[in-house]
This record gives sequence, C-alpha cells and structure tokens, in this order.
Amino acid sequence: MKSVSVERLAIIVILFVALALSSLVLFPGAFWQISEAGFRTMTLIGVGSMAACAIGLFWMQKKNSEAEFERGEMPEPPLESPTEFYAHPDASASIPPPPPAPPQHAPRAQAQYPHAPIEIVDEDEGVIQLRFTDPLTGLGNRDRIVDKFEKMINSASEDGNGYPGDSACFAIGLLDLDGMKLINDMFGRAGGDAILKQCAMRLSNGVEEGGLVTRLDGDKFAFIFPDITSEDEIEAKANLLLEVLQAPYDLDGRAVRLSGSIGVGIVPQVGVQFETVNDNLTSALAHSKRAGQGRVTVYSREHEQENLDNARLEQALRRAIDNTEVLPHFQPIISLQDGSLLGFEALARWNDPELGPVSPVKFIPLAEKRGMIAPLTESLLRQAAGAAVLWPAELFLSFNLSSVQLVDPNTARTMLSIIKSIGLDPKRLEIEVTETAMMSDPETAAMVLADLSKAGVRISMDDFGTGQSSLGRLRELNLDKVKIDRAFIKPIGEDKAAEHIVRAVLELCVGLELTVVAEGIETLPQAELLKRIGCHAGQGYLFGRPQNERRTLAYIREYMGDSTLGSAQQATS
Ligand code: C2E
Ligand code: CA
Ligand code: CA
Repeated sequence: MKSVSVERLAIIVILFVALALSSLVLFPGAFWQISEAGFRTMTLIGVGSMAACAIGLFWMQKKNSEAEFERGEMPEPPLESPTEFYAHPDASASIPPPPPAPPQHAPRAQAQYPHAPIEIVDEDEGVIQLRFTDPLTGLGNRDRIVDKFEKMINSASEDGNGYPGDSACFAIGLLDLDGMKLINDMFGRAGGDAILKQCAMRLSNGVEEGGLVTRLDGDKFAFIFPDITSEDEIEAKANLLLEVLQAPYDLDGRAVRLSGSIGVGIVPQVGVQFETVNDNLTSALAHSKRAGQGRVTVYSREHEQENLDNARLEQALRRAIDNTEVLPHFQPIISLQDGSLLGFEALARWNDPELGPVSPVKFIPLAEKRGMIAPLTESLLRQAAGAAVLWPAELFLSFNLSSVQLVDPNTARTMLSIIKSIGLDPKRLEIEVTETAMMSDPETAAMVLADLSKAGVRISMDDFGTGQSSLGRLRELNLDKVKIDRAFIKPIGEDKAAEHIVRAVLELCVGLELTVVAEGIETLPQAELLKRIGCHAGQGYLFGRPQNERRTLAYIREYMGDSTLGSAQQATS
C-alpha cells in the first residue's frame, strides 16, 4: 500500500513538470524568445515527460488492480451457469454458483482466464468439476454420486477397523418417476424437461445437509441421506421425498401430477461396492414398481432371500421348459344357451419336483421378463394342439398369447407352422389376448392378429373390462369374441351395478357381432342370470376346473357321450 502512494506522488510530480514544460513549448511567445535548437530541445523534453507520465499512470493502475484483487475487492468475472437454481448445498457444490464473493484464495488463473474449465473449490469435497453435473437439472450426475459414495465408504473404513465401509451408516437410494412417459406424450419434450427440473428442485430441497441428490438418466434419480442407521428412519424419509414429488406441478398454467417409486438401502447392508449397491437397489426399486405407484422398498435380508428365490425359480423354469414339464391343462367352455360343450381353454400348469406347484400368475411373467416366453409358448402350443386333434372336430382350442409375443412379428408364422405340423385346423384355434398386451406396440399386435385371422384363427379379447378398455379398438381389431373378466361375474346377482356393466358389454358386443363368454362362473344362479340376459357362453368351476389331457378326454366322452345333456346343460335349462 505504502509503495503505491510514493509512486503515485512521484508520478504526480513528473506530470506537473511535464505540463509546465509543455506549456513553455506550446506558448513560447508569451514569455521569451528562444532559438530553434532550444525550441527542439524543449519539445523533446515536453513530449518525453508526457510519455513518462502516461507509462507511470498505466503502471500505477496495474499495480493498484492487483493489490485490490488480492484483497478480494474485485468481482470475479461472472461464471456461466447451466442451471436455474442452487437449492441444495450439494447441488450448488456440483454446479457453478451465482456470482459469489470471491474466495479468500481465489485461484489467479480463474481471474486471468475466465473461459478456462470451471473448477470450484468446495471445503468438504475438494475440486468438483463440470463432469459431475447433469446439464438439464443442474444436479450432480452418476459420476457425482459414485464419487461421493466412494468417499463416504473410504472415510468410514478409516474410522472403523479398516474393512471397506464397515462403520458406514448412511442410506443410498434410487428413485424412478412414474408417469413421465405420459407427460412427454402430452406436453412434448420441453414439457417433460420442465417437469424434470421442477422435480430436481423439490428433491434437492428434500435432502438434508451432507446428503446428495443426483440425476442418473431419463427420469431416474439417486440420493444419499447421511447418518441413517434404521430401516424405519430411511423409509420415513424416502416417503417424505415421494410426498414432496406428488404435489401438483405447474406446466404452462396446467396442473400436472406424477409420483415416484423408490428402492433404498442402508450401507453397509446394501453393499459397499457401488455396482453391488446399484444391483440391489435396482431390485428393491423393481419390487416397489411391482407393488404399484408411489411405493418405497427398503433393501433387506428378506429382499435378498426373495432375489435368491427368484433366481432359483428362474433356473428351475428354464429346466422345466427344456424338459417339457410345463403342461397345458384344459378348462371347458360351455354354451349358456343350449348347454353344449364348445371347446377348451388351455391353461399352463407347472409342478416342480422341489418347488411344488407354481402358479402361472408367477411363472408366465417371469418367463416374459427372462426371455423364456417364446420357447414356453411354443412347447405349450405343440402339446395343446396335440391334445386338441384328438377331440371331436367341432370343439375349439383357446390359447393364451402373452404381451411379449404380440410385439414379435414372427409370432403368427411360428404358431401357424406349429399347428400345421400337428395337423390342427387353424379354424379350430382361438387366440386369447388382453387389451393391455396390445397397448405396448399396437401396430405389430394388429399385424400379428391380422395374419392369424387371415389363416382362419379366431381372436378373443381376454379379461375384458380390466384393462384400458377402448371401444374403438374393439371395432378396429376384427375380434371374434370377448371374455368378460370374472371380477364382473362374481358379484352378479348381488350387485346391480355389476349386472348393468355385463348387460352393457353384451349389448355392445351383439351390435358388433361378437360372441361373449363370461369367465369365472361358479354358481348356478350366476349361470342362469347370464343365460337370461343373453350371454352366449360361460366358463368356470361350475362347468369344470382345468384338467390334464387324459381327464379332458374322459370329460368329453362323458359330456358328449350317448346323451348330449351334460351336467352344465342340466344346470342351466
Ligand atoms: P386367464 O387367462 O384369465 O385364465 C383364467 C384363470 O381363471 C385361470 O387361472 C383359471 O384357472 C381361473 N378360473 C377359471 N374358472 C374359475 C372360477 O370359476 N373361479 C376362479 N376363482 N377362477 C377360475 P390360472 O390357470 O391360474 O391362470 C391365471 C392366468 O395365467 C391366466 O388368466 C392367464 O393370464 C395366465 N396363463 C395361464 N396359462 C397361460 C398360458 O399358457 N400362456 C399365457 N400367456 N398365459 C397363461
Ligand atoms: Ca385366458
Ligand atoms: Ca381371462
């Protein structure tokens, strides 16, 4: 400071002298006459003084600036910020902050090269670079949470007895938004991005200091809560995060709602390697999603057991498919109007030597998920068609097709070639599909069904009333039959509303020239009422449970034998 003042004084003196000399040069006539040589000398002195004065001023200014910068008085050049908000300490740590008071020891390079890669010094985290930032939301990204996780594990190992993460007590979780696809479809990408930003803001506000929220990709986020030791505690905190997410969002003046699913675990139980943790959390998250929207699953030992059970089940199913141990059973479908036997629905049955009987509700979705549904269906169709060719020619075989096969354009060709090789007329085959199954890829589904229809196979809409029923689609799809789900049949006779629904579906289907089958008929009054209101056919325990191939043949013999009056006909007449 002192040296600057002395220099400043010297410059002022030089300036003064220079000005005085210049005046002498510029106005010589005003004082005295001088020679030409004297005039040149005076001019040189004047110009030299002014140049010295200018250099001095420039140098003084430069010195002054550096001194002020070192005191932190000069604002840093503003940093370009990719985000709109800096809600959370961690979020702000991972993104450039708004023009701040410069740090005490601001790196010189930053002031001199404002466009150099931005590095922000954070007291806890060290140098955090832009590679840790999610550009859309301004939160940290995947690398950021991996980095923080590893640092927390390492510091826990140092604090404990040296094993990685042995004394760690924090929670880490995955959060997946439910309903983003719909928002993107309705509001476009920009709308979806705006919602993601709002979610990010809410989530980062929902995690306390020392914690972290990052965006992994798409609509998936990850978070860390510090100092958590109990499952109840983290479950409560995760539920709070979901509550915060569920409040309505404003999108161009329209209120939008969404929810999320969470899989969360406590370290070290959930793992100490990030990849293991990620696998375990992914399966906890899948568990939440299966249970419905807005759920939290805390990874636990039971969960681990469930995973092991699933792995065992998967192995056993693979083996059972290879060894043709998954068998079709057959449940009769009866005409409610005249009591005649119309055909059978094939239903898959699996009785594992070690696991015992496993429900198709369990193994069919597993086969779909693990890529086993095609070989399973082919094996079932081959066996079912082999059984059906032995039945009287007027009986049909109704066969369930899974959603996965409706997105495979080869399905129709494969199925037709199987029944051809067995010698079953395609006109005796019906395919049962659900509305939901047709939703994922409606074009391919329509193509598969059209190819089957063309060959003479009839198409049945299964579980009608439980999916996203679209009356328009009923017309478009060239269906032959509709099967009303048993949820509507069960209360019939007791619940007027259920009866009205069944009547309405019947009316609609008659108008569209569709045959209607009522599923899950268990009692005589149900069958009688359905007959009265004009339902064509029925299926359920009243007429027979699903049975194996041999018993089915015996059933047919008994039902169609000498007398065409079977038990069901007696029951409904
Ligand atoms: P679904 O196609 O709706 O099959 C009807 C289900 O209702 C069968 O259960 C059947 O046993 C049961 N059921 C029939 N009558 C009655 C009744 O009167 N009362 C009650 N409470 N239930 C009745 P199952 O065999 O456990 O099959 C469940 C689901 O598994 C089927 O529902 C179908 O979606 C799927 N599934 C079964 N076999 C196959 C198959 O071979 N392929 C495919 N893709 N899915 C299958
Ligand atoms: Ca069915
Ligand atoms: Ca059904």
